[in-house]
Amino acid sequence: MEDYHLFFDLDHTLWDFEKNSKTALKQIFKEADLHQKIEKFSTFHGVYQNANKLLWQQYSKGTVSKELLRTKRFTDTLKYFKIDDNGLVDQLSHRYIEVSPFQKNLFPGAIETLNDLSKEGYNLHIITNGFMEVQHIKIREAGLTSFFDIVVCSEEVGVTKPDSRVFNYSMAKANAKKEKSVMIGDNYEADYLGGLNAGMKSIFFNHRGKHKVRKDDDVIEHLTELPAKIPWVLRY
Ligand SMILES: [Mg+2]
Repeated sequence: MEDYHLFFDLDHTLWDFEKNSKTALKQIFKEADLHQKIEKFSTFHGVYQNANKLLWQQYSKGTVSKELLRTKRFTDTLKYFKIDDNGLVDQLSHRYIEVSPFQKNLFPGAIETLNDLSKEGYNLHIITNGFMEVQHIKIREAGLTSFFDIVVCSEEVGVTKPDSRVFNYSMAKANAKKEKSVMIGDNYEADYLGGLNAGMKSIFFNHRGKHKVRKDDDVIEHLTELPAKIPWVLRY
């Protein structure tokens, strides 16, 4: 297996972004005494998720900078509740970046699967669209460091997945051949189609089972399906 390279996405694939982000937001909501101004955390959370999603789409298109994304998701969230307070926006955006990467929830079977795959001799790597300084903390805090040879954050390439340049850069860095490389991720466009378009094999992690897939797509719904799925996808 020494020649085979598995590239994992991080957020929503190994690291349980939903759960970790919610825990972090709950903590900073409490710290900032936001319950005095906003009745329910769940409403705040929902509004934040929409604002954040929209800004990430704009960031991927290159229309919003990383710095603006980090503050504007809170500016927009607070605006919804008619709160206009730059100091509070600063506090929330800073604390979020300080608190969220230290959350450790992974998807069920993540460690067990990575253990199995590395025992089988596969080379494991990460390709993420997330930001360098937080992704490395998440990987370390969740106990994932020892599994991975290279970690590529797309910002070091200057474009984001699904741009083929991100995958080509990562394969070159890992000294991997595309015919012997597999991309594994939860985002159908960015990870699955992105990997295929770069000439790699690809596996879509449809963990909610909700995304529409094509008949011939290679899909898993649970990480523990990977050790059996990979030889099939690589046809060896
Ligand atoms: Mg993801």
